[in-house]
Amino acid sequence: MIKEILTYDIESNDNPPILRQKLQEVTDFNDEKTISCIQDLNDTLDDLIEKEGNKRGAIGLSSCQIGYDLAISAVTLGTTRYVFINPKLLEENGKRRLFRIGCFSLYKYRAMVYYNDDVLIGYADENGNQKTLRLQGDQSCVVQHEMDHLNGDLLFERLEHKEKDLFVPREANKTFVSGEDFETKRKLGLNEILSTPVYYSSLFNDYTDYVKFCEKEKEENKEFLELIRNKTPENGTITGICDDSGALSILLAKEGFKVTCIQSDGDMLELSKAIAAQNKVSLSFLQSSFIDLSSFNESFDTIFSAHILERLEDEKLLDSLKQGTRFSKKLIFLVPTIEYEGDTLRGDEHLRSISEWEALLKDAGFNIETLKPIDEGRSALISIS
Ligand SMILES: [Zn+2]
Repeated sequence: MIKEILTYDIESNDNPPILRQKLQEVTDFNDEKTISCIQDLNDTLDDLIEKEGNKRGAIGLSSCQIGYDLAISAVTLGTTRYVFINPKLLEENGKRRLFRIGCFSLYKYRAMVYYNDDVLIGYADENGNQKTLRLQGDQSCVVQHEMDHLNGDLLFERLEHKEKDLFVPREANKTFVSGEDFETKRKLGLNEILSTPVYYSSLFNDYTDYVKFCEKEKEENKEFLELIRNKTPENGTITGICDDSGALSILLAKEGFKVTCIQSDGDMLELSKAIAAQNKVSLSFLQSSFIDLSSFNESFDTIFSAHILERLEDEKLLDSLKQGTRFSKKLIFLVPTIEYEGDTLRGDEHLRSISEWEALLKDAGFNIETLKPIDEGRSALISIS
């Protein structure tokens, strides 16, 4: 039977308690309730997939979302429908993966959530047979999301600031920046869009938030921009890796540099493109996941990045920088140091002190041209070649 999906309103205290409750282990696989729960999950998930197609990305559903208190989830992986009964995490490799996810019980929201990248799960199938399944990448994330439901956890439980880190995606919130609204907002002008890179459009509810954020960050960016300007020949080529607000790229392009702006967030990229076009600034945009330089086939005078590289462990970091030097004469980056105290850390950073940065880069054979503490030592401004 196709069931109604129970939804959770983050602004209400009156939500279906079953969504926040640890669900019961299934012991009797022939029990009527178990059988109807499995049937209803499959029917409801089929209906969602049929109705919403890939637009909503209907992949999985858990029993509490349709009112059952049993530890059962249904998930479509590739072309196969799995029913996971009493699933347990048996192994994980310690690597995490950032995954953009939505949930039918939090209909209008999305979140960027970290899950284990590679897991082995144990579960029982519809007939009560014990099985294991290794899952990687996106599939691993999806199944862990469903397993969270069985523990009574909604997706914001994995977020640092809980409900605050949920965001309404642009496709669900057309007022973000479009049509007449955009016309009004663009009058605020490019000067107010001077910012340090941000990671995802989720940081902004609307254009005003964005402009406010940029203003706040303006001072810190001055030194960063100045270093980029000083190290790059006039009209030289620059690429901003994961300049996810696009603002630094736009600003440098406005000064005459030939800029390629790489952003990972498609929503933000569209916004940046629109802002650049409205301000008649010419630059190239490229959507790519951060730190993946493998798609490059041209070279640049300068590559810059801010608040990105601290997310890499030593080995991956050095590998990325080495790749970078193949494409660029200078690498200029801004990273928080171990002294950093702030609310923008995401929890996966590998913070290093200024001297640790120095030792790491020197040992790896990089030529350090600038290594400068800024923001009272809370960040390091670094240029290498
Ligand atoms: Zn869900």
